[in-house]
Amino acid sequence: MAYVVLARKYRPRDFHEVRGQDHTVKALVNALDFDRLHHAYLFSGTRGVGKTTLARIFANCLNCEAKISSTPCGDCIACEGFKSGNYPDMYEVDAASRTGVDDMRKLLENVHYSPNVGRFKVYLIDEVHMLSTASFNALLKTLEEPPNHVKFIFATTDPKKVPLTVLSRCLQFHLRNIEPTVIKEQLASILTQEDLQFDKESLQLLARSARGSMRDALSLTDQAISHGGGSIAIDKVAEMLGTVRTDEVSEMLNMLVKGDRSSILCFVNQLSKQAVSFADLLENLQRTIHELALAQITGQTDTEQLQPFIGKFSAEWLQVAYQILVVGLRDLKYAPDHKVGFEMTLVRMLDFEPVTGTNNESSSSKNERAAKEVVSEHGNAAKPKLESKSSKQISSTEALDSQSTPSKKDSVQSTKTTKSDDSTRQHSLVSKDTTADREAALRDPIVSSLMENFGAQIIDIKRT
Ligand SMILES: [Zn+2]
Repeated sequence: MAYVVLARKYRPRDFHEVRGQDHTVKALVNALDFDRLHHAYLFSGTRGVGKTTLARIFANCLNCEAKISSTPCGDCIACEGFKSGNYPDMYEVDAASRTGVDDMRKLLENVHYSPNVGRFKVYLIDEVHMLSTASFNALLKTLEEPPNHVKFIFATTDPKKVPLTVLSRCLQFHLRNIEPTVIKEQLASILTQEDLQFDKESLQLLARSARGSMRDALSLTDQAISHGGGSIAIDKVAEMLGTVRTDEVSEMLNMLVKGDRSSILCFVNQLSKQAVSFADLLENLQRTIHELALAQITGQTDTEQLQPFIGKFSAEWLQVAYQILVVGLRDLKYAPDHKVGFEMTLVRMLDFEPVTGTNNESSSSKNERAAKEVVSEHGNAAKPKLESKSSKQISSTEALDSQSTPSKKDSVQSTKTTKSDDSTRQHSLVSKDTTADREAALRDPIVSSLMENFGAQIIDIKRT
């Protein structure tokens, strides 16, 4: 028997099998069961979230010979017809390939005749936003006063392009991107039914890569099965997706904790040879940092590899690291190549050394210490210093010397105000012409970039 791709073989046949669209399913089930049917529906949402699937199930429910209900019998001629994708009163049109007004007129010329076999004629117009203005106008006439035996179902990935005159005549449902956990569960269930070997981590990678689309997830799974020769293993899946395994991400975190620059750069070279996507890697690191930040609050994580890192990073560093990754990903397109952009992002993260060990020292006591340092350095021709909230120094700030007034020394600290921040201000606001100094500091490109990207704020300008 010819191989049927997973996305087709496991396409939901009734509302119970639909995953991740509970709110829409509930509304449709209620409409069918309480006989509150509208004549036109519009399903919007990204590709592969179930728009056409829901439309077909809904059309089946309308035409089941037993009765109109949310649970079609599954045995009658109508139900069989829908199962085989061959039901004479279901008209499916892809508006992307039939945009012209003549196509629309042809489609609608028989609209007033009774259905061939069923209760309703159902017109499913996919990618409806692609229709021409003339086609929309031709459709509008019928949509305003449709015969009782006609139902319209429109599907679109871009509802903003559908004219308001059409939208206002439809019941609209926006289908959500499907959560990775829901996709993961569905993949596990399907692979078990297919009697194929798999591991949880592979499913997690596949679910994340599908970005909310069940169809993409199933297509990727098909691809992974071929790639792995009949089974799904993490090494092969990571290789196929051009991404890294979770343990590789945790290896990178370990190097960050240790501040091990040479090992981390060697590791990046190695990844580069595996042709991984650095954009993907930055995103992966973002997710991991997010997971760690939450794990430090709750004290637990589902990802086994992250367990050893709980409590190893200060909350401040996790915030800074996340922000650096966000900016790194945003600016990746400006880098000469992705590897350079990725390396610079990691180096920047290393410049803010993570606080290792448990957070014995509270943030406020760290700030108090930072305040003392600032005061003691004042007046002693101290080196200009940019500080993160936990008083970590950035070596690159020496560039300030050449950019701002040579006799002035700037100190920047992050914005979050605590009692100790206030005390820092009291002790150090000694400059008489602070406004002029401040303006000079603001013109400095590094200072302005730190303020813009990391929320830093100038709290003190020291003179020597
Ligand atoms: Zn039936």
